[in-house]
This record gives sequence, structure tokens and C-alpha cells, in this order.
Amino acid sequence: MIGKHKVFLLLGSNISVRMHYLSFAKEQIANRIGAVIALSSIWESEPWGFDAEMSFLNQVLVVETDLDPFAVLKIIQEIENLAGRKRNPEAGYISRTLDIDILFFDEEVFQNPKLTIPHPQIPNRRFTLLPLVEIDADFQHPQLKQSMRQLLNSCADTGNVELVKNQMCYEI
Ligand code: ADP
Ligand code: MG
Repeated sequence: MIGKHKVFLLLGSNISVRMHYLSFAKEQIANRIGAVIALSSIWESEPWGFDAEMSFLNQVLVVETDLDPFAVLKIIQEIENLAGRKRNPEAGYISRTLDIDILFFDEEVFQNPKLTIPHPQIPNRRFTLLPLVEIDADFQHPQLKQSMRQLLNSCADTGNVELVKNQMCYEI
């Protein structure tokens, strides 16, 4: 069955074995959230906003789901916990086995103490924009009214981001 909503998810991991955590996330997402209809290549990026021993692997997935945004948030947090994710008791970034962020949920724009949609850091992070451009360079940010390509062109982030594994694919 085709889900009612289209949700873009960003996966990130910087604790070994990173590729394993991405695979685990994709399997869990497909089973519990909905069909994965597109996925970007895997990109390797320098830690953003903190120092860490290992760089990140990142990948963007597009998933069709019947769930609402808060149900998706609850499940992605359960999946992070299953992957052994430790949370920082203080605010701030720390290394993680698995991080899953909601980038877009349909064309929705809202802000809530638990959830901000679209994810507020999209325009500031090349490791998010590069896989988004791969998936759909012309996709319009519903709030900023700019395409992924335009956002990448005007992004000030200078962090190094490299293609690791070209596995860009549309399953539709
Ligand atoms: P970060 O991703 O910033 O490193 P966490 O994964 O620990 O940190 O998320 C912190 C909180 O961010 C979550 O508890 C969640 O409620 C909130 N949050 C707000 N907007 C989003 C979003 N679009 N996607 C995922 N989490 C979000
Ligand atoms: Mg997160």
C-alpha cells in the first residue's frame, strides 16, 4: 500500500560500525514507518559543531507513510535507542551510533517544543543538502521557497563532505 505522506529522513552515524547502523536504520524504517521510495548515496562528513574521533556517514531517505509527524518522531527515537544511542545529559552534540532527523514532512511548516518541520538546520549543512540535491535538486523548501540546488549554492558551510558510496536509487 502506498502511504499518504512523504517524509524525508536524514541518517547519521559516527561510531563504528557506521555502515552497519545505516543498514539497521533502513531496515527498521521500512518495517515500522513505511516504504523507502528513494535513497541518496552515502556521504562522509566532518563532525559539524563539535570535535569527534570519527567522521560521520550520512544518507537521506524518502519514505511513504500513513503515520503523523509525531508518530514518526517517536519511532525514530525508538530506533535510535535500539541502536544503542546515548544521549547527552547536557545540551550539545556528542558522537552517536545513530541519529535520525525528520527533514521534511509533506509541505508542512510548524514549530513545536518537540518537533520543528522542516528541520531548521537544512540550509546550514552541506552534508544534508548534498544528498537532498541528489534526490531532487528542484524540490522546493516549503518555508524558504528555494530549491535544494539554490540552498546548496548559497550555503556558507565549508565542512568537508565526500561521496563514499554511490547508491543513489529510486525504488518507484
Ligand atoms: P540532534 O539531532 O540535534 O543532535 P537529538 O537527535 O538528540 O539531537 O534530538 C533532540 C530533539 O530534537 C529530539 O528530542 C526532538 O524532540 C527534537 N526535534 C525537533 N525537531 C526535530 C526534527 N525535525 N527531527 C528530529 N528531531 C527533532
Ligand atoms: Mg536527531
